[in-house]
Amino acid sequence: MRHMSPVKVRAASSAALQLARRSWRLLYSDSQACIALAGQAFERASRRGDLAAMGWARLTRGFHLIWYATPHEAMDELSEAQRCFEAVGDRAGQLLAEVGLARCGWRDGQFRASLERVLPLRDEGLRILQHDGLGMLLATIAGCYSELGESQQAFAYMYQALRESAAGRSQGFDVVLYCNLAHELIQLGDYHQALSYLEEGLARCAHLNNARLFSVLSINRVICLTNLDRPAEALPDVRRLLALPADKDGRGPMNAHFETLALAALQAGDVALGTDMVDRACCMLEGTTVPDERATLRVAQAELLMARGRWAEAAALLQAPPQPGESLRVRCMHFHALAAAQERLGQPAQALQALRLWQKLHTERALQASGARYQAAALQTELLRMKQELQSIDARRRSTERARAELEAANQQLKGKIAEVEALQQALKQQATRDFLTGLFNRRHLDDVLPAMLAMAQRDRQPLSVVIIDLDHFKTVNDQLGHAAGDRLLAAFGELLGAHNRKSDVACRYGGEEFCLLMPRTAAAAARRKTLALLKQWSAQCEGDARKLPGASSFSAGIADSSLVPGPLPELLKAADDMLLQAKRRGRNRVLVHDNGTRAAA
Ligand code: GH3
Ligand code: MG
Ligand code: MG
Repeated sequence: MRHMSPVKVRAASSAALQLARRSWRLLYSDSQACIALAGQAFERASRRGDLAAMGWARLTRGFHLIWYATPHEAMDELSEAQRCFEAVGDRAGQLLAEVGLARCGWRDGQFRASLERVLPLRDEGLRILQHDGLGMLLATIAGCYSELGESQQAFAYMYQALRESAAGRSQGFDVVLYCNLAHELIQLGDYHQALSYLEEGLARCAHLNNARLFSVLSINRVICLTNLDRPAEALPDVRRLLALPADKDGRGPMNAHFETLALAALQAGDVALGTDMVDRACCMLEGTTVPDERATLRVAQAELLMARGRWAEAAALLQAPPQPGESLRVRCMHFHALAAAQERLGQPAQALQALRLWQKLHTERALQASGARYQAAALQTELLRMKQELQSIDARRRSTERARAELEAANQQLKGKIAEVEALQQALKQQATRDFLTGLFNRRHLDDVLPAMLAMAQRDRQPLSVVIIDLDHFKTVNDQLGHAAGDRLLAAFGELLGAHNRKSDVACRYGGEEFCLLMPRTAAAAARRKTLALLKQWSAQCEGDARKLPGASSFSAGIADSSLVPGPLPELLKAADDMLLQAKRRGRNRVLVHDNGTRAAA
């Protein structure tokens, strides 16, 4: 057979089919999400007439209904699934639908017929089913054998189911297997061992969203505790079970096992609860075909009569012989109760006879247990191995998570450090190019950029104006108001100068109370106008100050334009400086422009 490439396989499976398969995988782990998804998948699939996807959606719904509705509702859905699978030739789907249908029969008490339906599928199933699907087939065979009292076969198939389902990877199916194993151990009378598996199953079930599975595990725990003579400990489980709603969001309407709960309540001495449970069981089990359920109800009714002192009625009720199909466990229970009733009635001979029957069944049960011992041990070993595997997977996951968290923390720290270093570098750069007091560029920056700016201006034949500004009588500010006030004034002037210029202008603190403004593409006249405006603004700002300043409310400035002073840079600076000097000499508070070294314009 030619194999499809993975790409083709993916292309062949529609979005609806993928959705349906996803819902199928959620069957045990999340009942509500599973059924919601199956519904969506079905809707999508039926709009497109996608039979393959419809089959899987119906299959999922069918299995869900086995637990959350009646076998008959489930059967309808599974038969429809079967038809879809037949139409598209999906053999794996067909096998699983068949498994589902067999389970419906089993739920209905038809154990032999179910086994006959599912056993012939085994070999083909081993070839074409995988993991949980195959696990389901094998577990169904195991379940049928279990109900038929063939524990050895039941254990052997459970063992295989466990191995095939690769429970380490499965989602919730391992819990089902814990539950089935416990059930079988209960049938054989090993309540201690059963209880420990139930505890384990319940602990794992806490991570799932499957009320049905939870309730089955709990009911089995009630049976264990009742039989271990610890009925009071079963009462919390009874209450929890009664609190579960019997609708599709709860445990489902079926299999409430009120008769089992009744036995626990009565043995714990709670006759009121026992009465209620027996009443409810009577309603629920009316017409039931499951032999053990009927038998358990009969014993519960007898126990209730005995609790009320009605020994004769109890004995009469139990006179009816056990029906075919009833398990050894239930038959033991029956004769045990009968013996108790007859003893209280003062009929020791009859009581002894009942006890002998009880003993015979008990021996049979022990034989059955011993015959199944090897398979049971193998299964338990496998479960232990699986548990260790799961634990190591958990441990690996936790350590990966921890490592990831540590890495994340280290990353965060590194990011913090990088940000810190970047901020530091930024600050250093600031410090290297900025004047601390005024925030303007410093002399070093001016020295760095001025040659390039001049070269560019000369190449582009554009003017570059250099303005040197010196605050007038600044010394008096320091002298009269103190150095700090002088600093504040310098900072204020720096702020004004910074705000006043264009983006392309470069404003620097040249040193002390001297500033330098570089104005690219600006001729002397324009530079002068701007500087005069600045002088006006500065004076106004200082006049406006509440405290009349003794000095520095004006400045003197000298301007040189590179297009008028074509020499090298020192000459341009000197020309501006000369003009500043002249401005000071001429009485300060003015702006002078160098006019090619001959004339200074006021
Ligand atoms: P002129 O009008 O001739 O420029 O007079 P002036 O007083 O402004 O000039 P002079 O050069 O005599 O004095 C400048 C003073 O500026 C001297 C110095 O102490 C002061 N100075 C320089 N740098 C700073 C500074 O960073 N802060 C303060 N508060 N004063 C400074
Ligand atoms: Mg000065
Ligand atoms: Mg000066």
